[in-house]
Amino acid sequence: MLAQIFHKYIADLLPSHCELCLLPIQAQAQSASFCHACLAYFAPIERCQRCGLPCVGEPEQCGQCLTHPPLWQRLYCVGDYQAPLASYVQRLKYQRQFWQADKLAKLLSPQVTEPAELITYVPLHWQRCARRGFNQSERLAHALSKQLAIPLANVFSRTRVTRPQQGLTRTQRLDNLSDAFALTSLPNVNRVAIVDDVVTTGTTVHHLCKLLLDAGVKNVDIYCICRTPEPSS
Ligand SMILES: [Zn+2]
Ligand SMILES: [Zn+2]
Repeated sequence: MLAQIFHKYIADLLPSHCELCLLPIQAQAQSASFCHACLAYFAPIERCQRCGLPCVGEPEQCGQCLTHPPLWQRLYCVGDYQAPLASYVQRLKYQRQFWQADKLAKLLSPQVTEPAELITYVPLHWQRCARRGFNQSERLAHALSKQLAIPLANVFSRTRVTRPQQGLTRTQRLDNLSDAFALTSLPNVNRVAIVDDVVTTGTTVHHLCKLLLDAGVKNVDIYCICRTPEPSS
């Protein structure tokens, strides 16, 4: 950990190089992490504005959203859970590279065309938070809050430890998370954004949206780094 921080400190003092191809970055973009060519790896693709899944023509709602609308109004993401984006999420989450949060937020914030009035995040149960030492969604929410100039508030708590969602059926996923979250304070605004690092099935954010909507919030948006469809089984 200390070695990582030291290397980052040294790297910050040196002329900037693209993290992916290692070529020098032009002087006017010294604060950037990627060169112009490699930024193309993170370029947005056409997606349904509502569910965030790939869709031709960027409709406000795709056919699936028209028949089964999600509880949220809009989902903003950087891309699918695949290289090189996924590796930055993993570095933040599993290798404690906190500085990746700011970098990932910089890729997402330009896409948020209609910012919410308040930003919050998916809570971790305190036991998991104690084990990991931090909540990656909270780190991302802090960075996005600064970059988008939206106030940040922690409004959720996790009331019990839940099994990982991967590998569960839709019904099991819903059961696994039912009553797993609580609203700890009532946001006094109409539009709230929930930050999650990766949205796959959407079950977690679905439960959190429901808490906010039941409490009278009019619109909920989702800000995530990766949005990826469920793997077909
Ligand atoms: Zn590059
Ligand atoms: Zn959709």
